[in-house]
Amino acid sequence: MYAGPGVKTSPDFPIPDKMKAWILGNPGELKLTEKAVPVPKRAEVLVRIDAVAICATDLEIIDYGSPAMIEGGKPFNKNFTPGHEYMGTVVALGPGVDEYKIGQRVTVEIHAGCGQCKRCREGMYTSCHNYGLNYGDVDKGHRANGFTTDGGFCEYQVNNINTLVAIPDIMSDEEATLVVTAGTAMYGLTELGGLVAGESVVVTGPGPIGLLGVAVAKAMGATPVILTGTRDNRLKIGKELGADHVINVRNENVVEAVKRLNGGKGVDYVVECSGAANAVTEAVRMVNRGGKVCLAAFPHEETPVDVAHIVRNNIYLFGIRGEGKSATHRAEAFMSQKRFDATKIHTHTFALDDLPTAIRYAKDRVDDAIKVVVKAKGVSAHRVAAE
Ligand SMILES: [Zn+2]
Ligand SMILES: [Zn+2]
Repeated sequence: MYAGPGVKTSPDFPIPDKMKAWILGNPGELKLTEKAVPVPKRAEVLVRIDAVAICATDLEIIDYGSPAMIEGGKPFNKNFTPGHEYMGTVVALGPGVDEYKIGQRVTVEIHAGCGQCKRCREGMYTSCHNYGLNYGDVDKGHRANGFTTDGGFCEYQVNNINTLVAIPDIMSDEEATLVVTAGTAMYGLTELGGLVAGESVVVTGPGPIGLLGVAVAKAMGATPVILTGTRDNRLKIGKELGADHVINVRNENVVEAVKRLNGGKGVDYVVECSGAANAVTEAVRMVNRGGKVCLAAFPHEETPVDVAHIVRNNIYLFGIRGEGKSATHRAEAFMSQKRFDATKIHTHTFALDDLPTAIRYAKDRVDDAIKVVVKAKGVSAHRVAAE
């Protein structure tokens, strides 16, 4: 029977001993297997995973390994379950946990820092200095589910209570998986100073973080909000999420177009979500003197940067990792207040057993897929309206 020392469960949510779980074999290889349902320890709960979204970073991890790090190295053939953008229901409480109740719906953020390093003590748990040190005799208690510990492509997972975000019943399972994506965009704007009301913002790259970056910037009062990209169908969704202007970079010089749309001046902030090779240099040319650029995408290659332009113009560059400084809570507040409709980027839902198909849709953008969600409770594959 499922149990652990001091763990509380409820007959309303019976927990099996074993669960379905996908594991990463060789690069690109996912296998469906069975694992023991994990047991929460102090400051942890067990979450029954009701929905999990596929992120571009999952695709990166499945094919190349990084930025996941398991037992100090690449995650291949280590019985590792990826997946990090999930939501679900709390079904068991670790010893002493009274912050959440059994039966409560939650969505999760990824990083639970060690709580004892310099950065964690500064509140920067996504930059924990003990990243990935959570095994054997180097266990510092750090967890980043789907990166350094088992993630959400399975039926149950343990989460530190610091990674939970309570969600209202009016928020659907699918929408709740997008809170962490909006939270990442929110963290980018937080690191840029957070006070963007009345300030001009460019978001480059209409992927999920870029599109929700537009929505969050608009909800925070930025004006104008300009979205740049190469695909008109994605730019159209950006307009629906609040972009005042969109620029297809294939059709015009993007730096000149940004300046023209902002009264001849560069903008105050750029949130770079494209990862394109020329993106950083273009971003620093889009901002006005003293402007700030947040880098939220990671390119595969080293990218050239016009350092002289940055120095002459006192431009600030920030790199962000993940969804730090409790930004998911602020993003969830905007979403539960219906300040924007994040579900516009959710396009497809598949059953957990169909994960490889779901991944193919996300990777190859089959049928214009943007966010693909997988649900453990049997659902037949379907497309939902993004139009
Ligand atoms: Zn992600
Ligand atoms: Zn730490």
